[in-house]
Amino acid sequence: MTLDRNVFKELEGVVGQKYISEKKTTRYAYSNDWTSVEPNGHPDAVLMPGSTEEVQAIMRIAWKNKVNVIPWVCNLTTGGMCNAHHGGIILDLRRMNKVEEINTDGLYAVVDGGLTWADFKREMMKRAPGYIGAYTYSPPSSGVVTGYLLCGMMDVSLAHGDGSFYITGMEVVLPNGELIKTGNHMISPYWGTRAPIIDLAGLFIGWAGTTGIVTKASVKIYKQPAEQQAFYVNADTVEHGYLNQMNIAKQQIAVDIASNNWAWGRCEAGIKLPFSREKGEPELESWVVLQAANEKIMDGKIEELYKICKEDKGIEIEPEEEGLPKLPPGNQMQYFHDLPMQLSNDMDGNRGGTGEWAGCYAPPFKQAEIYRAVEKVYEKLGYVEPEHPIMQYNRVMDNGHETILRFNVFQHKDASEEEKERDRALLKAIAEKEVELGAVVYKPSYSNSRVNMSHADPNTVEFIKQIKDLIDPYRIMNRGQIGGI
Ligand SMILES: Cc1cc2nc3c(=O)[nH]c(=O)nc-3n(C[C@H](O)[C@H](O)[C@H](O)COP(=O)(O)OP(=O)(O)OC[C@H]3O[C@@H](n4cnc5c(N)ncnc54)[C@H](O)[C@@H]3O)c2cc1C
Repeated sequence: MTLDRNVFKELEGVVGQKYISEKKTTRYAYSNDWTSVEPNGHPDAVLMPGSTEEVQAIMRIAWKNKVNVIPWVCNLTTGGMCNAHHGGIILDLRRMNKVEEINTDGLYAVVDGGLTWADFKREMMKRAPGYIGAYTYSPPSSGVVTGYLLCGMMDVSLAHGDGSFYITGMEVVLPNGELIKTGNHMISPYWGTRAPIIDLAGLFIGWAGTTGIVTKASVKIYKQPAEQQAFYVNADTVEHGYLNQMNIAKQQIAVDIASNNWAWGRCEAGIKLPFSREKGEPELESWVVLQAANEKIMDGKIEELYKICKEDKGIEIEPEEEGLPKLPPGNQMQYFHDLPMQLSNDMDGNRGGTGEWAGCYAPPFKQAEIYRAVEKVYEKLGYVEPEHPIMQYNRVMDNGHETILRFNVFQHKDASEEEKERDRALLKAIAEKEVELGAVVYKPSYSNSRVNMSHADPNTVEFIKQIKDLIDPYRIMNRGQIGGI
């Protein structure tokens, strides 16, 4: 499909010739992310607006002409959440990449909707030394606001919650081009809290760009603690490992707990597939990060951590500085305490191909059951060692109130259609198993958002449709995502 010529001219009038393209090569570059299992999108054009006013003008044109609009920062969810399955225009927001304000007294920063992690970190280091944001392990080129809007996992998420906890206010362009504000900033000249008024943030968090375009957001920042220490905590089984993670989380001494299972741990250590688990090799490898204002507090936390690990079954703990030198030189773990970083060799299992996953927010007490059930799904569909061992990553957040559990599959770069089809079937089966066992798929791809919604309470789905009817009656926002509502 191509855009109507008059519509194209109008859009060009907003952003200028330089920032609109219908070139086949450009459209191809914006057609997919690292996934091979999600079908490619077919955008009609790509635009790069430079301001909130330009986004508003574009939305007015799209609303009038019922053109599908896909907000885009990096398309790196690896779930194709920006793939233009129904055509339309991609709004690449990366020209809107400023940190507008850093308020160290109010502990927030106001950032543009297209800001990347790399730019955020640089600005924080330059303009607010001694203060930090909540960073992710996602590539430096991916988005800050998107990471938060999608309830992502941050390096301080155990202490402070998933990504959505860091958004305290937003400026949002609605599908009809109107501009609204959420949080205290709707009343006050300042930003910084969602309380105490009606929390409109819920109309945009978790909606995958289907209700509006966030052009600015205020996000939490923190004073950098004087002390930080990381530990590797190995468990003989996932059952023991998850239990131990929760025991640590409940004591509220750590800021981050995450894990790889043995197979993904090997990938992150730079070891190439195929491989098999060795006898006695820990099944779950967690890293635990402690922060403290001074050495004395840190010593107390370390003492408590070792006590928990000693009391728990099947656990071995060592400080990062002892564990790290044992890993191969190409390992990724060495960069974990200086985020953002580019996870390179582990992302595709060292295969030079693609990586995709089906992950879920799981009730903490169901993680082991889900792991074992998913293990059976892998086996049933022929994904076994040494070519395709089960790959798991988990993270505990909000002091143990939230846990995410995620399973990967990696493909060679020359994968055949048949191999991709098998991967698709595996990921769908994993997502279905996760939901069947009480979990909810996170950052769901086009396909997996349908798994979520097909299990959702019908009255609530109807209510979501009514909200969509009100905000986006023509379904011009990232059409087809969130289960096609
Ligand atoms: C190697 C690797 C490691 C990763 N590690 C982590 C990790 O540790 N923690 C984690 O949380 N994630 C991780 N991710 C996922 C990554 O963070 C995602 O890239 C991120 O969540 C989305 O960023 P993005 O800028 O690519 O968003 P995009 O894919 O561009 O957008 C995501 C969604 O938001 C919508 N959207 C985009 N901009 C806006 C806007 N301004 N307003 C409203 N909607 C908008 C889009 O339409 C889309 O639906 C990882 C990814 C990779 C590839």
